[in-house]
This record gives sequence, C-alpha cells and structure tokens, in this order.
Amino acid sequence: MENCIFCKIVSGDIPSAKVYEDELVYAFRDINPQAPVHVLVVPKKHISSIDDIDCADDLEIAACLRAVKKIAAAENLHEGYRVISNCGPHACQTVPHLHFHILGGCQMNEKMA
Ligand code: 5GP
Ligand code: ZN
Repeated sequence: MENCIFCKIVSGDIPSAKVYEDELVYAFRDINPQAPVHVLVVPKKHISSIDDIDCADDLEIAACLRAVKKIAAAENLHEGYRVISNCGPHACQTVPHLHFHILGGCQMNEKMA
C-alpha cells in the first residue's frame, strides 16, 4: 500500500527498532511508548484493521498472535502483558494497517479491558 507508514516500516523505507521478524510478521518498538515495553506487531501484508480481516488472512493473523507470545517471552514479560488492537475511530486507531500493541513491564489498570 502506497502511503501506509507501517508498510513503509515493513519494507525498510522508514527506519524502526525491530524486535522480531518472520516470513509473515514484523514487530518494532512504538515511537511513543505507553509502557516500559511497547511493541507493535504487524502483518507484512497490508490489512487495514480487524474489520478488514477475512479468511484469506488466517495465516497472517495466527502468525501475529504466535509472534506476540514469542516477543513477550523475549522481553521477559513473565508477570503478564496486555495486547490491544484499536479498530476504527471510536477506538482511536491512527494508523490504518492492522497492528497489535504489546504493553508490559508495569502493573496495568483494571479498567479499559
Ligand atoms: P493506533 O493509535 O493506530 O492504535 O497505534 C498507532 C501506533 O503507532 C501509536 O502508538 C504510535 O505511537 C505508533 N507510531 C506511529 N507512527 C510510528 C512510526 O513512524 N514509528 C513507530 N515505531 N511507531 C509509530
Ligand atoms: Zn500498510
């Protein structure tokens, strides 16, 4: 996708602090971290949001969630972590390329999921 910042991060056109990569997934540190550990996990294939997932994307979605688990272990998030995917304007999604936030390294609030 032209003009998609996360596609440009995946391709290397925009630099990022990579934490994980495989055939289907790329993960990097959020530029504006909201927790001591804040990693974004994205499918390399452009999918706009959870709303745009279809069954042709099953491999990518499964690969993203397996990557979440691997990254959490590598980042020593043994006490737990939160995974968030903002979808659409009510959720304040700002980048229209599906991504899973991994937040960890501190005690989270009970509210907001
Ligand atoms: P959203 O608000 O769509 O759920 O999350 C987008 C996230 O992408 C935000 O947390 C924001 O800080 C992060 N972000 C936006 N642009 C860049 C960038 O160029 N590089 C990195 N590493 N993170 C970015
Ligand atoms: Zn994209």
